[in-house]
Amino acid sequence: MDGTFNENDISHVVEADKAHIWHHLSQHKPYETTDPRIIVEGKGMKVWDQKGKEHLDAVSGGVWTVNVGYGRESIANAVRDQLIKLNYFAGSAGSIPGANFAQKLIDKMPGMSRVYYCNSGSEANEKAFKMVRQIAHAKYGGKKHKILYRDRDYHGTTIGCLSAGGQDERNAQYGPFAPGFVRVPHCLEYRAFEQEGAPVENYGLWAADQIEAAILREGPDTVGSLCLEPVTAGGGVITPPDGYWERVAEICKQYDVLLHIDEVVCGVGRTGTWFGYQHYGIQPDMVTMAKGVASGYAAIACLVTNEGMFDKFKDNPDDPLNYFRDISTFGGCTAGPAAALENLRIIEDENLLENTTRMGDYMLDQLGALMDKHSVIGQVRGKGLFLGAELVSDRDSRAPVPEKQAQAVVADCMAQGVIIGVTNRSLPGKNNTLCFSPALIATKDDIDHILHAVDGALGRVFG
Ligand code: PMP
Repeated sequence: MDGTFNENDISHVVEADKAHIWHHLSQHKPYETTDPRIIVEGKGMKVWDQKGKEHLDAVSGGVWTVNVGYGRESIANAVRDQLIKLNYFAGSAGSIPGANFAQKLIDKMPGMSRVYYCNSGSEANEKAFKMVRQIAHAKYGGKKHKILYRDRDYHGTTIGCLSAGGQDERNAQYGPFAPGFVRVPHCLEYRAFEQEGAPVENYGLWAADQIEAAILREGPDTVGSLCLEPVTAGGGVITPPDGYWERVAEICKQYDVLLHIDEVVCGVGRTGTWFGYQHYGIQPDMVTMAKGVASGYAAIACLVTNEGMFDKFKDNPDDPLNYFRDISTFGGCTAGPAAALENLRIIEDENLLENTTRMGDYMLDQLGALMDKHSVIGQVRGKGLFLGAELVSDRDSRAPVPEKQAQAVVADCMAQGVIIGVTNRSLPGKNNTLCFSPALIATKDDIDHILHAVDGALGRVFG
């Protein structure tokens, strides 16, 4: 902000917003007596609202998106130059930024080779589901069409993605869902005791084995793919227990089940590696990504596959199913790959992966230290700059705090000028995990600032 900001300048915007905007994820009754927050400007880690109030953004635009921070002129310039040259062309034609970004992206993903462009995480996941279904029809008489997904994972907002959605709070209103989606347990060891028949030790291996059990129950010849988040985001910032992913990959291989990893949140640096799955030495068949691909400077999502997947779609020229019968209108926008290319360059040139690991370790450590002071923190977890603190009213029973109290912590931080989030949308009214995902440029001072606000808020809300 340049200091000349005048609240009155945009009072008409507030009125227009109140009259016409249907806000995401919002109950609108409160807007009858209070104004919605309008974010006017951003720079680095900070944003300013319509009242000129400064906020330190610890959630990268609310939903883990603005990985390189706000106000990046070089991305704006790259997009501008590209738009003037060619803004759009869709269908089977390629584009210069599309090919260039694909090349760079694949360099970061050994073993992968093809990039399919679209414009949201949900869309990328839908396309992955469609590939599985098309392969099932082309190769297995339609039989190997089932898609396994996990409790607590989220893959998007469409009915197809909600059919693969493990967060009942988000699903409850929207059935009936698409057939052929099968749920398996989550891998949150901290809540193992809530799972019927689960051991509290070695829970990760038990949870992975439940995937095998589901495949055997459904019939391996009916299961086409398994779709998972590498570190679960909205379901409570869930880091997998040791050995979990290795076992999952082994099971997929054994039963010829395609491994689809949803990197919509973890992708492009969030956890300190380019992709979350790269922490676990595994090799996926399909990877979907969206939020951090261009840090929100343009809408872009990608479905990336290995060459084996791609080959399945071209090995029989006489087969009417021999190409992927799919298109994305806005997958033809060139602003996305132009922004994504510059976004990637920034992450590389500014060593943001290293910074994410260093600052993430520091923040996790400091969150852990807060546990000594606030018994309401039951567990802290996460990877890189993707962290959560689960709040419980009692550490022994692990009973979640009422959601209202978790929301009060968020509101208190907001009043202090720090934006944090709360998540864990598995069950209605059970959001009890504070979440933190500052931009990958975060400094130690930023982290200290965030934690100072959280410390104060926990003290005030829980006494
Ligand atoms: N997958 C995951 C893991 C997500 O968190 C989200 C969005 N929060 C999506 C998919 C859907 O992405 P979009 O909102 O871009 O459709």
